[in-house]
Amino acid sequence: MKKKKVAVIGAGMVGACVGRYLQRDGHDVVMIDPLEAGEGASFGNAGCFNPSSLVPIAGPDTFKQVPKYLMDPLGPLSIRWSYLPQLAPWLIRYGLAGTPEKIKQQAQALRTLISPCFDALMPLVDDAGAQKFVKRDGILIVYRSRESVAADARGWALRRENGIVWEEFDEAQLRAFDSNLTPDAKFGKYVPHNGHTVNPSELVKAIVDHIVKSGGRLVKAEAKGFAFDGDRLVAVETTAGRIEADTVVLAAGAHSKSLAASVGDKVPLETERGYHVMIRTPAIMPRVPTTDSENKFVVTPMQLGVRLAGTVELAGLHAAPNWKRAEILLKRLGALFPALGKDYSDNEITYWMGHRPSLPDSLPVLGRSTRSADVVYAFGHQHIGMTAAPYTGVVISDLISGRPSPIDLAPFRADRFY
Ligand SMILES: Cc1cc2nc3c(=O)[nH]c(=O)nc-3n(C[C@H](O)[C@H](O)[C@H](O)COP(=O)(O)OP(=O)(O)OC[C@H]3O[C@@H](n4cnc5c(N)ncnc54)[C@H](O)[C@@H]3O)c2cc1C
Repeated sequence: MKKKKVAVIGAGMVGACVGRYLQRDGHDVVMIDPLEAGEGASFGNAGCFNPSSLVPIAGPDTFKQVPKYLMDPLGPLSIRWSYLPQLAPWLIRYGLAGTPEKIKQQAQALRTLISPCFDALMPLVDDAGAQKFVKRDGILIVYRSRESVAADARGWALRRENGIVWEEFDEAQLRAFDSNLTPDAKFGKYVPHNGHTVNPSELVKAIVDHIVKSGGRLVKAEAKGFAFDGDRLVAVETTAGRIEADTVVLAAGAHSKSLAASVGDKVPLETERGYHVMIRTPAIMPRVPTTDSENKFVVTPMQLGVRLAGTVELAGLHAAPNWKRAEILLKRLGALFPALGKDYSDNEITYWMGHRPSLPDSLPVLGRSTRSADVVYAFGHQHIGMTAAPYTGVVISDLISGRPSPIDLAPFRADRFY
């Protein structure tokens, strides 16, 4: 195999895993990012590694809930109406992607990418000496009523069809598992094979540090374009000058759209903005990441406190954060963990907003560009980028190293919407 000079644009979880797998395969790797590693969406997520998260976001169950969500000022979804004209084409595709038949196909494709999550993640974690950031003790989903359980039934059936196993908890089992849960919690699903990171950003930094210690480079710059000789890539143009490379991986998360368009791929990539609140010194810690199924947020025990993460806001890349979206999470918290439900002062909490990179069909874009085989895509991992990143690293390195792909890449093609 010919050793290549590979530039990876974006040092988030996806870029880090891709970069490290390429390096393990013997390639020269340069990571390019204007920020420190792990400061984009990979900074503030809920940290869950959920091989069970194979249910696409678009679908009849989501569509049914949308009017209710939009009318509720504390609801988990909001649209900035001034952004609607730009958003409309994505929303239409999102609606078209949600048929029962397509959802089954998308779930199967997602399964191929996320079921090997830990097998692909742990070698990178061990390499980087980052074991302290990873826990493998499952996650819990909590329901207050039979109606809520029934509303999610289709998603759980899809998981079962795709080999996911979990344990059903009744009220007493929930209480025995985590005595801090609300007495309103009546039903639970415990997914033992999921896990989480207690510090997503530090985990990404550890992997990228390891790339650098192993001979790679991290250049603090923004990629602006590509330079070609015929069809062959020769360099990436950046704010820090030209970086020579014979292959480039575009892993800039929600910011990947214009660079992909510059090489012929008009990809319908949108940002689903999400928020978090960190409580630095919480009265109690949840035992494992715990999802409030009705209110659609996760409460994760982390190294630096408790993190509440969730909500979707469709408002584009450039609008200022609306911190009310984060306050909603805090307002809802006491209804899940009563001991955490209080008014916090500003020095007890921090807020954050980040950009989930989302395609209408919940699948990322993986594979070669239309313009040149030397431009390879690895972006659009929506709500599950922490989970999907490790095996994305394997798949992309196989592609660049000339090995047969371990998964069918057709569902992930950049041109699948045209
Ligand atoms: C509230 C919330 C909760 C979430 N919870 C989970 C969860 O529990 N589990 C899970 O699996 N996923 C979760 N996610 C999703 C996950 O965070 C993302 O899918 C994932 O972080 C995407 O990783 P990435 O590397 O593609 O993007 P990013 O982490 O955003 O990295 C992209 C990088 O590219 C850089 N970049 C951008 N433009 C350029 C350029 N022109 N040149 C060079 N660099 C550039 C950026 O600076 C950034 O560092 C959540 C997301 C949110 C918002």
